[in-house]
Amino acid sequence: MANSWRHERWDSLRLLTPNWQTDLPGYAYAGPDPDGYLTAVEVADLIAGYAAASAAPVRTGTAVTSLRRTEDGYAVVTTAGEFRCRTVVLASGACNLPSVPDWQAAVPAKVDQLTPFDYRAPDQLADGGVLVVGASATGVQLADEIRRSGRPVVLSVGEHVRLPRLYRGRDVLWWMAASGVWDQRFDELDDLDRARRLPSPQLAGTPERRTLDLNALVADGVELVGRWAALRDGRALFSGGLRNVFSLADLKMRRLLSTFDEWAERTGAAADAPDPYAPTGVPESARLQLDLGSGEIRTIVWATGYRPDYAWLDVPVLDGRGRLRHEGGVVDSAASPGLYALGLPVLRRRKSTFLYGIEDDAREIVGHLAGHLAGHVAGW
Ligand SMILES: Cc1cc2nc3c(=O)[nH]c(=O)nc-3n(C[C@H](O)[C@H](O)[C@H](O)COP(=O)(O)OP(=O)(O)OC[C@H]3O[C@@H](n4cnc5c(N)ncnc54)[C@H](O)[C@@H]3O)c2cc1C
Repeated sequence: MANSWRHERWDSLRLLTPNWQTDLPGYAYAGPDPDGYLTAVEVADLIAGYAAASAAPVRTGTAVTSLRRTEDGYAVVTTAGEFRCRTVVLASGACNLPSVPDWQAAVPAKVDQLTPFDYRAPDQLADGGVLVVGASATGVQLADEIRRSGRPVVLSVGEHVRLPRLYRGRDVLWWMAASGVWDQRFDELDDLDRARRLPSPQLAGTPERRTLDLNALVADGVELVGRWAALRDGRALFSGGLRNVFSLADLKMRRLLSTFDEWAERTGAAADAPDPYAPTGVPESARLQLDLGSGEIRTIVWATGYRPDYAWLDVPVLDGRGRLRHEGGVVDSAASPGLYALGLPVLRRRKSTFLYGIEDDAREIVGHLAGHLAGHVAGW
């Protein structure tokens, strides 16, 4: 039950969404700290509580090893036997495997390598320098905690989404929800493909509601380098142009915050005055390469993203890049009628991968599924 939250998260992880947003259908957070952020263990307990309250017939400890079509539906082969059904909802998650560049295999053997699936806490790392690759939610959180353990940390930064934790006296995710950004629908976005590939925002859920952007990390002694572009002769080669990468992230943040300001003005929402923010500081000279054989770096932590695992899907519904072909969660209905998905990035709305985002998507998907079972022509 709640396998990924119990077994695939690091010890200190807290949700980056505030508790009042931890809102499963009919089962909202009701604890004493609505502005706090749940730990991974608390999320696992919440999901277990939800399963008990809903009395859904959950079969725990059961892996699906194959899904294939039959004449009138699907055969689902599991470690606890085979099931037949007319429809299937894939809710197996967007983050089953780490996404790591191919050249990791050529990293010198004396450098340890970890992904967020193996990393638990800094004391598991060798003493010495750590290269954290990727500066989105996972990367900034791990860089921060590893630096606080006293180790030198180099953070390799590519495209990222910068956000303050609080804006005008409220959680930035309150603004995302209230101003309607999180409700933007998949069929209304100019560039859906890009929206689905956006990195997670640089946010952490700390009791102090701290902003964890690159400026905060540099103030704590983290060294920034550019995107890791290649590995040659045991050397990590980083892209230059940090100034451009930072300006773009600053610009996008500014635009988003202006959207909030405009919404507040239009609706008369009560809020503090707009907060000032400093541009991301550009290092005077960022290193362009690092010799991984020199002993300076003892550990690499790959915070380069996650991907789903569809190895068990024996239906032709993946595109050339291994991504599920679907229209708002209705999986390619010509290839595989009656197959649905939930919980993928911007599946039906910007909020689709968040716990809080599931209710609206699920209602619509279940509506479509019921129509399919009743023999109606597919359509919304
Ligand atoms: C590091 C990290 C931080 C996050 N922080 C937040 C946050 O702050 N707030 C938030 O709302 N969301 C957060 N998320 C996203 C969060 O994971 C989703 O909101 C939520 O977990 C999605 O639920 P899900 O059930 O769709 O997927 P998951 O939680 O990934 O659950 C999928 C389940 O399917 C199981 N599964 C996969 N394949 C099979 C198979 N073949 N057979 C049987 N079972 C299978 C997995 O073991 C897992 O238990 C975070 C995700 C990650 C990775």
